[in-house]
Amino acid sequence: MVPAGIGATDTHCPYCALQCGMTLTQQDGAWSVSARDFPTNKGGLCRKGWTAAALLSAPGRLTTPLLRDHRGAPLRPASWDEALNRVAAGIAAIQQKHGRNAFAVFGGGGLTNEKAYLLGKFARVALRTANIDYNGRFCMAAAAAAGQKAFGIDRGLPFPLEDIPGAEVILMPGGNPAETMPPIMQYFEAQRARGGKLIVADPRRTPTARAADLHLQLSPGTDAALANGLLHVIMRDKLIDTVFIATRTTGFESVRRACKSYWPDRVERITGVPAANIEAAAHMLGEAATAMVLTARGAEQQSHGTDNVLAYINVLLAIGRAGKMHCGYGCLTGQGNGQGGREHGQKADQLPGYRKLADPAARAHVAGVWGVAPEDLPAPGLSACETFNAFGETVRGMMVMASNILVSSPDADVLSGGLGRLDLLVVADMFLSETAARADVVLPVAQWAEEDGTMTNLEGRVIRRRRALPPPAGVRTDVEILAELAARLGCTSQFATAPEEVFAELRRASSGGDADYAGITYARIDAQDGIFWPCPDAAHAGTKRLFLTRFATPDGRARFHPIEYRGAAEQPDHDFPYMLTTGRLLAHYQTGAQTHRVPELEEAVPEAFAEIHPDTARGLGVAQGDHLCLTTRRGSITLPARITRDIRLDTVFVPFHWGGLHNANLLTKAALDPVAKIPEFKACAVHIARAPARRPQGSVADIHPHAAEDVAISSEVS
Ligand code: SF4
Repeated sequence: MVPAGIGATDTHCPYCALQCGMTLTQQDGAWSVSARDFPTNKGGLCRKGWTAAALLSAPGRLTTPLLRDHRGAPLRPASWDEALNRVAAGIAAIQQKHGRNAFAVFGGGGLTNEKAYLLGKFARVALRTANIDYNGRFCMAAAAAAGQKAFGIDRGLPFPLEDIPGAEVILMPGGNPAETMPPIMQYFEAQRARGGKLIVADPRRTPTARAADLHLQLSPGTDAALANGLLHVIMRDKLIDTVFIATRTTGFESVRRACKSYWPDRVERITGVPAANIEAAAHMLGEAATAMVLTARGAEQQSHGTDNVLAYINVLLAIGRAGKMHCGYGCLTGQGNGQGGREHGQKADQLPGYRKLADPAARAHVAGVWGVAPEDLPAPGLSACETFNAFGETVRGMMVMASNILVSSPDADVLSGGLGRLDLLVVADMFLSETAARADVVLPVAQWAEEDGTMTNLEGRVIRRRRALPPPAGVRTDVEILAELAARLGCTSQFATAPEEVFAELRRASSGGDADYAGITYARIDAQDGIFWPCPDAAHAGTKRLFLTRFATPDGRARFHPIEYRGAAEQPDHDFPYMLTTGRLLAHYQTGAQTHRVPELEEAVPEAFAEIHPDTARGLGVAQGDHLCLTTRRGSITLPARITRDIRLDTVFVPFHWGGLHNANLLTKAALDPVAKIPEFKACAVHIARAPARRPQGSVADIHPHAAEDVAISSEVS
């Protein structure tokens, strides 16, 4: 039963990085959502946003801590005191025996800025562990690394969405916003209404690719070759901007040499994109007065994701279409606070304000705000998958906040085994996710509309998420949990629990950093529909557009980087002859921990599927609705076939919103990009066969021995 209403509340959607403005209203005990005319969504919402109110009364909500008396015992309800004492004692025991870094922390790109900041502080000050990372490592990390290398700073979009319609040509590698964030399509529709052109590079003819003027249907994992091929044509046909290259960049000559051998017919052989289309795209870009490149996960979630993004940036720099109005490179950030989450200390090498943990001046500044000695701050730690690989060895315990790693991480079966080797797994979540079901202690937390905080959307606009109702009895907020645990661990540093107080501390910690929030206040956000960082002081209006006069490198010039195409870590061969790629659907979000609990969304797409081309299906003797057994070197899953001409002959697509036996990540490979450490979700070799008969629906219990009991307990306690 939803508590008595406290009126209509203007807030933002609980899901993706567009952070659409919405109003939550309660009437007769029922909550409903209406769209707000916020600058990003301009009155639009997608299906997930419209149905978000259902989360407030979703079944399975956790309202009491759960713990196991010993490994192998079922989860049982516990008091907060007992649960927090158990966590604190477990952490202390692990750290005493194995060292401080033996306890790791894992955060999420859905956490508010306040929580992300406090989680980083908790790890570095209360736990003094080096090992904190978050699920943004799985999403925008390659784009972030490339942005840093090329421009000296990473902000998803260095311009507001309102600039998109002014771009004559937009190249979008690996993005499908028509499904992942539909309201953003109004900007691309406005661009095309003004005569602009959209080019989409994607192995699938997605709804976005269908709306494009040109679809480059490349083979998964071949982005760098495609980008180099585009630049080869641009150079060959003298479409480069020599003045821009000379005055605002460095390093072009090495890129010129690197791209010389990427003749269109060679690139066609690598990518499968017809040479004529490569030529056409290069000319569309090179002849446009204004152009943008907007990458998304398709190009980024690869073992050479950083290279891919840098290769696309090279194209843009060569034609001189960056650092100018209606021009530039941007990343279409996916997770709700994927941007803010990577700015304030959840990443293994990072301190608030996008400061580097390895930088002595950064350590001194943040240590001063936290009231500790700089030398007491740990060194940079392990990235996400590196942490998982250390389970049972150098890492003996972990606390997970706002993440469902058992579904979202690559090579899920190996991770499942790794979780079993931990001495202590603590999960803070709203629901008993697949990962929470494996925990030794589960801490029930408040959700989106039950607490205040700020988010930073894909534009770098800091916005306010407002509390519309109190959390259910028995539930605490993440910041309250961190403060309680810090105190129990004997930490003498202050951990504020009021979101605005935490934000005030974050502002001080970020002051002077790249992502400078010092001048942003809750009141200013309210008055201005959000404020773009950097905003160094109260008199500063915020920075809508970066790089218009100089890039954020020491000499103000953007950097070219020569890139050689290397391909996916795993190539098709005799035994595994197809490529697997994974992605999102309109009706679901991430691991589905929330959207599977919204009846309308679950009815829309109740189960996973495998998308294959009709000719591939014919060769396998598969008809629509038959089941396919997909096997990689890591695992096997069986899914109904969805046969469509929208996918390449050599590729199969599986959405990643399901756990258990339908978990796409039982198949994926944890090959990491050497710079960003992002795993290769988008390309691995797979064998496809017609399954003999429909297998039962998978559940978490199918691969995790304790899950069945845990799910039973979950329904008892919720
Ligand atoms: S999921 Fe994204 S696009 Fe859809 S309503 Fe929410 S913020 Fe907007």
